[in-house]
Amino acid sequence: MHFEERFMRRAAVVTASAGLGGIVLGGVWVWVMRAETPAAVRRLVRRRTTALVQPPVWERDGHFRVGDAVHTPPDRHPLTVTWVQGRSVGLLTNPRNNSRMHTAASDLRHLSGCAPCMADAADQAAAEEQRQAAYWAQWPADDHELYEALMDDQVLISSEPHRRYRFGDASPVREWMRTELDGHLLDDEMPSLTLGRVWDPVDWPRIEDDHGADGLTIENPWRTPAWAAIRAAFEILRDAGYTPALDASVEMERLADKTVGANVVVSGLQVEGLIDDATYQQVAALLGEATDWPQSHMYYPMRPDGPGLDRSQPYKVDEFTATGWRWT
Ligand SMILES: [Zn+2]
Repeated sequence: MHFEERFMRRAAVVTASAGLGGIVLGGVWVWVMRAETPAAVRRLVRRRTTALVQPPVWERDGHFRVGDAVHTPPDRHPLTVTWVQGRSVGLLTNPRNNSRMHTAASDLRHLSGCAPCMADAADQAAAEEQRQAAYWAQWPADDHELYEALMDDQVLISSEPHRRYRFGDASPVREWMRTELDGHLLDDEMPSLTLGRVWDPVDWPRIEDDHGADGLTIENPWRTPAWAAIRAAFEILRDAGYTPALDASVEMERLADKTVGANVVVSGLQVEGLIDDATYQQVAALLGEATDWPQSHMYYPMRPDGPGLDRSQPYKVDEFTATGWRWT
């Protein structure tokens, strides 16, 4: 359908349902359509169209009150409302360590006792499930089969505090994967061909030096910062005597000789506790400030009764007691 025809049809529908106001607005749209680019018109139409519809309940003043149990779908993590100022809502994210955040009311839904919020959260959960199914479907059936065989063959070696695995004896993985990764593999929830997630302080730069030509690639698919910068930051921390750990997902890589290698996807870097200023500055030059939430584990305390960070307070490490950077 031609853009103009589609646009007119949309305008006609809104006009029919909105009476005189719609007709007037319809006239404005036609004028705008001739004067502006299609993209600008589409934006305008969307704005005008939604302005004629009642906002959803979670956008209305007074919908969220102090003490309400809410979440940010599709995430189910429970949050408690601590203050409301206009469209901004303060939240207690973890009562154990009193950690807080704030977000727009439009991102929040009630966890219980509110039918429209719960229905919308269910819709978002279903959409997320579909997105994950579509992501999973990008690999051919052969890869899925090999992946299922590898996962069936994995051996659980401990359960506390996280389940840890090693590769099974029948798995055709490259030998270095057994020597370097056995026992470090944790469950990974990504809807991809992931063989496990690694949080332990595995020395990935050293492993890359030793096995980079043997079915191993390491990357940050979000691209910023580049793996080269992350690697350099890791080495600075390691060489200064710290024990850096990457948050890494080990993705299955089918190799030409029918064995299995690893594409390692890194999404975060952290060190236990605080680090000295000189080292911190070197790493910050590569990865940015650790206090630039949300890519960081470090934060300034939130003001308990209103929006904003309380920068008069020293920044703190988070519940994991770590200085960290995250780029997803
Ligand atoms: Zn609600």
